[in-house]
Amino acid sequence: MAIERTLSIIKPDATRRNLTGQINARFEDAGLRIVAQKRIQLTLEQAQGFYAVHNERAFFYDLCNFMISGQVVAQVLEGKDAIAKNREVMGATNPANADEGTIRKDFAESIEANSVHGSDALDTAAWEISYFFSQIEIVG
Ligand code: ATP
Ligand code: MG
Repeated sequence: MAIERTLSIIKPDATRRNLTGQINARFEDAGLRIVAQKRIQLTLEQAQGFYAVHNERAFFYDLCNFMISGQVVAQVLEGKDAIAKNREVMGATNPANADEGTIRKDFAESIEANSVHGSDALDTAAWEISYFFSQIEIVG
């Protein structure tokens, strides 16, 4: 297992309900280390840029508007197999299908307002981390 980094976002539905500490505890309990973190208000252009891969999908417009409906916490998580580990801790995209004990099962409001984002592969993780953080903002 390799030490990886992945981009995590705590989404507006979760920041609105003051859940950032509880969500961070899930990451840390799973052995993921928060090596960079900042709370920001995305612009529509920034949200559309981040989700450009989904710009043909029916949910793109609503998703981008949801992502700017409140503040988000962008973070870099580091650990063994961090990309897969984070997605395991997050649970399925649709909370109705998420396993017991996952973040989305316990906190998500809907398939859209599903509390967290996590990168899905090494190449997307590298691009997503660089979208939010400069090298000097990441410890180590
Ligand atoms: P994420 O990329 O946020 O970690 P994911 O990889 O599980 O989640 P994707 O398929 O990449 O899911 O979709 C990105 C995001 O778009 C989802 O997290 C969710 O907020 C939203 N989304 C996905 N499918 C739908 C849908 N059918 N209807 C509404 N929103 C959706
Ligand atoms: Mg995804």
